[in-house]
Amino acid sequence: MINIKINNIEIAVEEGATVLDAAKQAGIHIPTLCHLDLHNTKMVNQVGSCRVCMVEQEGRRNLMPACSTTAVDGMVIHTHTPRAINARRTIVELFLSNHPKDCLVCERNGHCELQNLAAELGIRDVHYSGRRAKHPKDTSSLALVRSPEKCVLCRRCETMCNKVQTVGVYSTVNRGFDTVISTAFNNPILDTCCTFCGQCVSVCPTGALTQVDNTHEVWDVIQNPEKFVIVQTAPAVRVALGELFDMEPGTSVTGKMVAALKRMGFDMVLDTNFAADLTIVEEAHEFIARLKNGGPFPMLTSCCPAWVKFIEHQFPELLNIPSTCKSPHEMFGAIAKTYLADKLNIPAEKIVVVSVMPCLAKKYEAARPELKSEFNHVDYVISTREMARMVHEAGIQFNLLPDEEFDSIMGESSGAADIFGTTGGVIEAAVRTAAAWLNDGKPPKIDFTELRGLEGIREATITLSGQKLNLAITNGLGNARTIFERIRGGESNYHLIEVMACPGGCVGGGGQPYYLQHDAEVLRKRAAALYITDESKSLRLSHENPQIKQLYSEFLGEPGGKKAHKLLHTKYTKRGV
Ligand code: SF4
Ligand code: SF4
Ligand code: SF4
Repeated sequence: MINIKINNIEIAVEEGATVLDAAKQAGIHIPTLCHLDLHNTKMVNQVGSCRVCMVEQEGRRNLMPACSTTAVDGMVIHTHTPRAINARRTIVELFLSNHPKDCLVCERNGHCELQNLAAELGIRDVHYSGRRAKHPKDTSSLALVRSPEKCVLCRRCETMCNKVQTVGVYSTVNRGFDTVISTAFNNPILDTCCTFCGQCVSVCPTGALTQVDNTHEVWDVIQNPEKFVIVQTAPAVRVALGELFDMEPGTSVTGKMVAALKRMGFDMVLDTNFAADLTIVEEAHEFIARLKNGGPFPMLTSCCPAWVKFIEHQFPELLNIPSTCKSPHEMFGAIAKTYLADKLNIPAEKIVVVSVMPCLAKKYEAARPELKSEFNHVDYVISTREMARMVHEAGIQFNLLPDEEFDSIMGESSGAADIFGTTGGVIEAAVRTAAAWLNDGKPPKIDFTELRGLEGIREATITLSGQKLNLAITNGLGNARTIFERIRGGESNYHLIEVMACPGGCVGGGGQPYYLQHDAEVLRKRAAALYITDESKSLRLSHENPQIKQLYSEFLGEPGGKKAHKLLHTKYTKRGV
């Protein structure tokens, strides 16, 4: 252990800890901007580029950055001397002098770390003026917007995209005042191998990276009397949305969320969980067919559009192994505009499907041409954050809402569908149904706890019907890369693998509330809330959902049948790197 003194408090820290770590341990707050602990991935963005965390050490002339200075035995540090505070103010003022200052209309207004820092440091004026860097906005994608003029060069996005996700979209180019974070050859992000996972958006401290805002289109369509607007909500949304209304992480707000959506004016409020059950029926059927036919193995779950894009770019030789099932919200859209349209006696062209997702990749996915028929199955995707904003815009007092139930027909779901929202949940749901089918309808057990957890790569062997099956679960694209390299190298003996692009799965999706995103404890609480909901339900097997049975008997026919294939399955495309 190392003993140091900060603000006259004696602190014993482990060797190797930084001054910032020591201060945190003692409950002393030092402002930061570029620094970010990505707890859930055990990565730290520690580039020391912004210099906001400058502190004074007794016996040294120069100030030093707390985030990248290693604590040394006997060190005496002062964090809030006039000199340190003045240095921080100067630095932040310099950032502001090179900033567009359109905060009032910025997507991050009220949720911006630069704004918070200016407030914390009591900055009321910017004393510097001069040249301002000019860079065009990149609005090429349907998922995220790049506004490099708001960039503070913290490099969090580089760490996230290049080291955690191993996609490698961003790098720092040019020097001095011209330094900018850019894509290769400054191409629009649409023309890169970006997966639209949105993880860079969730770590960016400013409005330099934001989601595409679809809320205005959704308000317009709600108010259009010619349209019948159906909204569906993914499982991970309901365990994170409450955080945006000051509730504890992991508070499940399903009933309030439904009530809010009804008050916002949607014509029907239905559940993506219904379609998660449908996905499992199709996926388990496909897996059992592969078991009977001897492969191809491993089968990869396919409900995450970001990892689907990742494999299309990075491992095109493996495109025969993902399940061909569409993601649940796309299955929902396909059924809503056919089966449900008939039931409601409303022409499909009049129906608009809006998905509320924890995800930015689903904004891009909704426009994939192979997922459309003569019309889009999903028309608009809004994130958890966008939904919260719409609730505020509608003047709804979320916390005071009474719980309400989803509308029926496509509103019922099993506990297996709830756990889709976390890493390990999709494979457990699929294994429950496969185990039941292979065991004459009686699964040997419901809870496959060996598949749960947050670690980036997990493995388990289970026995179904006398057959040993090797399973793997991976979350975060860097971990997925490790698994795919094993498969490509012929070192894999897996039968079934669940892949989710976001660290922690959809509970940690790129559209979830900012700030808490990378706190492993928050992700654990969100996931725990999903498992509690699962356990509380009497219906815990997807294939036993009565509305799913009705859908097959009245409309789809058999799982994996011709109609099911046409509406619920897809294909993949090789893409350039
Ligand atoms: S969305 Fe994901 S893949 Fe695309 S740049 Fe951001 S982190 Fe990288
Ligand atoms: S785009 Fe955002 S995360 Fe990336 S360096 Fe700039 S401010 Fe930091
Ligand atoms: S893990 Fe979930 S939230 Fe993240 S990209 Fe995939 S589907 Fe979207």
